[in-house]
Amino acid sequence: MAISGDDIEALRQRISIVEVVQGYVALRRVGRNWVGLCPFHAEKSGSFNVREETGRYRCFGCGASGDVFRFVQDIEHLDFVGAIESLAGKYGYQLTYTSGTESKDRQRRKKLVEAMSAAADWYHDRLVNGPDARTARDYLRSRGLAGDVARQFKLGWAPDDWDALALGLAKDNGITQDVLRDCGLAFTNKRGKMQDAFRARVLFPIISDSGDVLAFGGRILPGSTDPAKYKNSPETPIYSKSRTLYGLNWAKTDIVRADQVIICEGYTDVIGFHRAGVPRAVATCGTALTEEHVRILKRFANRVVLAFDADAAGQGAAERFYEWEAKYEVSVSVALFPKGKDPGELAHSDPEALRTAVDGAQSFLGFRLQRVLDANPVRTPEERARTAERAIAVINEHPNLNVRKIYAGQVATHTGLPVGDVVPRVERRERNPRIQVAAPRDQGTRENAEFAAIAILLQSWDSIAPWLVADLFPTDVMRRAFVAVAESGGSVGAAIDAADPEAREVLERAVVVDIDTNGRAEALNLIAAAVRRELASRRGVTDPNVLRADRDARLHLEQLDSSAGDSAAAFLLGWLQSNSVSDDFVA
Ligand code: ZN
Repeated sequence: MAISGDDIEALRQRISIVEVVQGYVALRRVGRNWVGLCPFHAEKSGSFNVREETGRYRCFGCGASGDVFRFVQDIEHLDFVGAIESLAGKYGYQLTYTSGTESKDRQRRKKLVEAMSAAADWYHDRLVNGPDARTARDYLRSRGLAGDVARQFKLGWAPDDWDALALGLAKDNGITQDVLRDCGLAFTNKRGKMQDAFRARVLFPIISDSGDVLAFGGRILPGSTDPAKYKNSPETPIYSKSRTLYGLNWAKTDIVRADQVIICEGYTDVIGFHRAGVPRAVATCGTALTEEHVRILKRFANRVVLAFDADAAGQGAAERFYEWEAKYEVSVSVALFPKGKDPGELAHSDPEALRTAVDGAQSFLGFRLQRVLDANPVRTPEERARTAERAIAVINEHPNLNVRKIYAGQVATHTGLPVGDVVPRVERRERNPRIQVAAPRDQGTRENAEFAAIAILLQSWDSIAPWLVADLFPTDVMRRAFVAVAESGGSVGAAIDAADPEAREVLERAVVVDIDTNGRAEALNLIAAAVRRELASRRGVTDPNVLRADRDARLHLEQLDSSAGDSAAAFLLGWLQSNSVSDDFVA
């Protein structure tokens, strides 16, 4: 199959290369050229030049160059004939084939796009004029999505009917059943009849950045019994979720102007941003953000703002975002919204808040770090150490050393740890997933006291060493850590070498944690806690010797805070020791 050479030249004459390229890349006039971000390589400033007079483009970054046919081939992944057919179709040019016919694939795609376009018109007309769409119109009006908004975004209504669309498109547009099926508008039901895919839903047409209707997103009305709030078109030969962004066709001009794209979770959020005067929002279509999405958006802007619900953004795959930031030289940040409000609602109730949220977007790592710092208290040295651990783990997800170091400084300031202790940990990019498992509350408090005692022992041996015995450490890992320190006589290096991996982790934390508590007081607290635990285990004991010793212990416990505290502590340590021996004996 071939296309006549005359046709190719005639088509070239008819086509504006600037107009074609602008279907994919936003261009601005610079002298005799039109310049934009190269769609074939990742770049921050535009090196992609198009000149109308010569009908050619050239990228000074990657060297890509050619004519309009080459451009369409490369960007649409078509062969030469496919590119010519695609352009001829868009410009309404009738090609003459020297042999054979238009490529089958190309023909098929064209048919599907035509059917989707006819469906969008049909649904929209139904929304605007259908008597059965009154509830839908009322709902959209209440959300601020009626009138001009409904027209601009070509909102539609799929009636509560079995086959209204299928019959309508067959009758008025001659669209066949297999085309309806292939583009996901209808299916063959159990009785062998065509049935519409969308029913009793408001429809949002999903349109390619070059203007073709590819798919629909459908939302139920409030009060519907349908369990699926949203339903989207299936993947078809013309629609791939991972490569499609809702709203890009409307947003791309402003995305380029602002060098920023806002990514939302829902169709109404996108429309909300437009209504609030921030017309550079897009949404993924029922899928997480993919690398392909980022690659597409990079053609238009270098700055990506996530306008997700805070929890959804927090759960985002951080490492993938960082990877994309580096690979595509984009910056990813997060816009913060008042709790429980989505952009669609805010556009209606407080549009200014939308603009403020975008202007104040935080870097993705900054946002994640802030969430950790906000969620973890820093009232005690133990809490400060724990918070720092969690914050360091989040920072260490980031691949860039300098970025990690800057945030390490923030963690040091916030928790009071010496910055010189935090920075080496982000330099080594330590990972510590174990610390994320929170201990039960009472256990956590107890562990905190034990951890503090070990930290004091490591940092200020003399102030606490005389008071500590292994029995004061009921938590297994803490006791092992203590024993390692005690047996090494206070040498940090020897203790860390001697400890098992879990205990070593405790010691490594304890060495760097910032302790401002008096060692003696901390030790006395531990002793008091151990004595109370021991006494609490005495219920039901009748032996008069044991009861007498316990009474003595209670008296000494009360003296711990007094000037006789040291001798009381010595007595209680002896009492604890004897009890642990008798426990062992009984066992
Ligand atoms: Zn390039």
